[in-house]
Amino acid sequence: MSKKILVLPGDGIGPEIMAQAVQVLNTVNEQHSLDLEIEEALIGGAAIDADGVPLPDSTLEVARNSDAILLGAVGGPKWEPLDRAIRPEKGLLKIRSELELFGNLRPAMLYPQLASASSLKPEVVSGLDILIVRELTGGIYFGQPRGIRTLENGERQGYNTYVYSESEIERIGRLAFDLAMKRDKRVCSVDKCNVLEVTELWREVMERISQEYPEVELSHMYVDNAAMQLVRAPKQFDVMVTGNMFGDILSDAAAMLTGSIGMLPSASLDKNGKGMYEPCHGSAPDIAGQGIANPLATILSAAMMLRYSFGLGEVADQIEKAVSQVLDKGYRTPDIYTEGTEKVSTEAMGQAVVDALNA
Ligand code: NAD
Repeated sequence: MSKKILVLPGDGIGPEIMAQAVQVLNTVNEQHSLDLEIEEALIGGAAIDADGVPLPDSTLEVARNSDAILLGAVGGPKWEPLDRAIRPEKGLLKIRSELELFGNLRPAMLYPQLASASSLKPEVVSGLDILIVRELTGGIYFGQPRGIRTLENGERQGYNTYVYSESEIERIGRLAFDLAMKRDKRVCSVDKCNVLEVTELWREVMERISQEYPEVELSHMYVDNAAMQLVRAPKQFDVMVTGNMFGDILSDAAAMLTGSIGMLPSASLDKNGKGMYEPCHGSAPDIAGQGIANPLATILSAAMMLRYSFGLGEVADQIEKAVSQVLDKGYRTPDIYTEGTEKVSTEAMGQAVVDALNA
């Protein structure tokens, strides 16, 4: 049976990096007769320009009928003056919540070839392989009530609500434990339960779930300490699981441990393993249209898609190996360039991965 993939290039560098990822998918599709069917639709600013909304119903409809989604990035200065409710980023939040993509997987792996591109000492980061599991559809980013109100004394006050139900904590917890079973069997749950009741419940539920996974070692860490430990000794972690806001911040910090945000893929999964896959970076308007964006995070996101949504771990391994070979050859887009390596364009980098797959 064919596997339907919806490709959403989005804005800025999105279409440039997506073209390379699609080329890679076409290559493995041909090599292994995977029966991948690729369809394309609009999201973000591109959708606003065409349809007036960041997530047209037609896009959502195709997304619902697809087996997996590969997204470039959305947003840019052109759409910043628009009302918050119809900005490009709203399209992204909406598709994630409509499809109930509650589990965000953000691996931070350091390719040894890039150890010198990290802002930390090579010995602190070389061999780094951590997986941050972030809850994506709940917590303070979605909690009600929210808004800006005027108090009796005339002063304005902004407020948001940090909420998690037991079932929301349970499903993200189980995902983290299941993933840990396939890795080093260690889960570190990050909370702030000394201050926030919502994370007191979080910790209690994590403890309860851990009884179902006797082989997995569970530890807990306050978020402030976790931020410090990530830059002090990041290799101590295997799987980190946390809520939406803490995960947002920690995963960006983890991203920089690896040198370039242009190298990091991510996955957002629903309870059936259907997922949306995207690079961790944004639409990089500062370099859009110049042909210099790093396509590897998107290519690696496509590999994650094959692994997690289609059970094609071996094909995913092959793509990841091809990326490593390309780095071995010294090819670098400007964001990961260091002296003695060869600076290449987005297109040349994508082609090098295809060539490595075909070799
Ligand atoms: P950004 O990730 O787009 O860019 C940050 C810096 O990293 C820039 O200097 C950029 O040139 C560089 N960079 C990012 N991706 C790169 C790549 N593949 N290759 C080389 N360099 C790369 O973040 P930003 O500047 O804060 O945001 C720009 C726009 O993207 C905003 O509109 C923002 O809302 C949007 N955004 C979208 C997403 C998403 O679609 N998932 C995520 C973050 C930001």
